[in-house]
Amino acid sequence: MSNPLLQDWAGPHGLPPFADIQPAHFQPAFDAALAAHRAEIEAMAAQPGAPTFANTLAAFDASGRLLTRLSHTFYTLVASATSPELQASQRALAGPLAAHHSAVYMHAGLFARVDALFEQRETLDLTSEQRRLLERIHLDFVRAGARLVPDAKSRYAAVMARLAELNTRFAQNVLAAESGYQLRLTTEDELAGLPGFLRAVARQAAIDRGLAEGVHVITLSRSLILPFLSFSARRDLREQAWRAWVGRGDDTGDTDNRALCREILELRAEAARLHGHACYADFALEDTMARSQTAVMDLLERVWHPALAAQAREREAVLGAMAAAGATHALEPWDWRFYAEQARRARFELDESEVKPYFPLERMVAAMFDCAGRLFGLQFKPRPDIAGYHADVRAYEVLDADGSLRGLFLQDNFARPPKRSGAWMNALRNQSRALGATPVIVNNNNFARGAAGEPTLLSFDDVRTLFHEFGHGLHGLLSDVEHERLAGTQVLRDFVELPSQLYEHWMAEPQVLKKFARHWQTGEPLPDALLAKLQAARQFGQGYETLRYTASAIVDMAAHALPTAPADVVAFERETLAKWGLPDEVGMNHRLTHFQHLFSSSGYAAGYYVYLWAEVLDCDAFDAFVEAGDVFDPAVAARLRECILSVGNSVEPGAAFRAFRGRDPIADPMLKDRGLLEA
Ligand SMILES: [Zn+2]
Repeated sequence: MSNPLLQDWAGPHGLPPFADIQPAHFQPAFDAALAAHRAEIEAMAAQPGAPTFANTLAAFDASGRLLTRLSHTFYTLVASATSPELQASQRALAGPLAAHHSAVYMHAGLFARVDALFEQRETLDLTSEQRRLLERIHLDFVRAGARLVPDAKSRYAAVMARLAELNTRFAQNVLAAESGYQLRLTTEDELAGLPGFLRAVARQAAIDRGLAEGVHVITLSRSLILPFLSFSARRDLREQAWRAWVGRGDDTGDTDNRALCREILELRAEAARLHGHACYADFALEDTMARSQTAVMDLLERVWHPALAAQAREREAVLGAMAAAGATHALEPWDWRFYAEQARRARFELDESEVKPYFPLERMVAAMFDCAGRLFGLQFKPRPDIAGYHADVRAYEVLDADGSLRGLFLQDNFARPPKRSGAWMNALRNQSRALGATPVIVNNNNFARGAAGEPTLLSFDDVRTLFHEFGHGLHGLLSDVEHERLAGTQVLRDFVELPSQLYEHWMAEPQVLKKFARHWQTGEPLPDALLAKLQAARQFGQGYETLRYTASAIVDMAAHALPTAPADVVAFERETLAKWGLPDEVGMNHRLTHFQHLFSSSGYAAGYYVYLWAEVLDCDAFDAFVEAGDVFDPAVAARLRECILSVGNSVEPGAAFRAFRGRDPIADPMLKDRGLLEA
């Protein structure tokens, strides 16, 4: 009776009543929501009238509201503010939620209605969005197993339920491996080489963990581990931190993910076979822009060879820095960032610790909002009175140029122990005109919080991440479709990184940096000389970074192209990289044993390539602004909003891009941007 999850949420913007929610509320609330949704589905399937768009498709899209709102709330908390109790609920719910999904999408009576409408689609006189919804929902049913014979259906549902449990355990293991690791630095000798900003955040991380005065802590959060590897003069500690970082999930303890990876790959291969595909990659790619392994591998190969050449040139510079420092040891992976930083300093006279004071978080958030104002007329009104799920969450009302409400934006910027790593956007509510729903969009980052009384200072890469997630946020906020299933970021996954990566381009614009990047102590704007050095150094290290990304994409594709799982996923990864000739000192963005994109859900399985795919689109799209002579050109911005950001999945992505650009995308702008275009 008193379960807050089951009551009307009457607070501002219909936000969940976070303060009242206890982990124990979820299980009974999900029980009620699943039962309610089952009843809706049965009623929809059993209705006597012939299927129509309204009584079947629109009705299906509008159904399961309680379950949807509950799921959004649950997964928001699980990702950003979890607890042992929530984790236990997550493990207990994974299988039943997957089973419910299968039961809905394999419902013979309901699918018969959807299928009948699909067969009549040419004669139904549908709007283009209605037609798209029909095709999308029909495909959702087919891909979830609606057409399988009864025996195959039950096996498929069992595979999906088991996969959901394995995905959950995988994600929880990664979180445990990450939050279980601390490199404690207690002497000046152990802090050797670390600049002031890094000491400050490492000290703050120690305070957050209740450690004594004088102790500094390096965690596996990117905003601590990456600068530590770049600056620590203690080679032994760099090695130790590196091994912990790349070893996540590849261990023999409680957080060993090797067997989980193997079983997930095996079950995915089986699921693909049930659908008549030779491997999971073929099944996954069927519902993408790329469509085939060949198209993906062609793109990966296009960057791989120039990236190898670029990294070989960078290697010379790194070896030069080692020689200059009198280092006689071999170049190991834990040495690369340290000497690359020195090479960068020598070549471009650019010092990361000199740049950071110009990038306080607050000002960069203001920059990100300002760009959205100039491009789309949006205004962001802080609502400090609206509470999120944690005190770190900031709420903003998003208003359109005419003052009308577009939605609510929540931002949670700081790393905390019970929060997953990385950065992501999610929706607490998707936009839908039919449901009268304005979007509620969340951005999560994992920045290391500044010391007490000091601002949080971002690296150039952190600012890029901030803008990236906000680009996804705009995709959710600017959504303007009738039906929820087609709203915002629910597009094909090799299209979804277009708005996010496109938005990154504005953070590097000199006029944006000149206006917002100011020294947090002196207020001085970013000096021209420093800006010029930043621009000049931009492509240095792109060979290394491109290889790290592409290596992960290649291993992902290779693992999902197998007809059965490899016996030893670690050996498979090593052999695949050896075949491609990845230099030992480079490593990968994500190794299989902690590759959350692939194994925490199926979201990006056989899909890590999508960042590069979308980069072709975003670099080409940004060129439309460059060609117009103004990166804030109002006509191009209006077209971007109209053709891409507002349409969600109501338009086929290739057609959406053509409507914006007037032609199909070309890859040269991406290669040029990465410095990989061969002369
Ligand atoms: Zn993204």
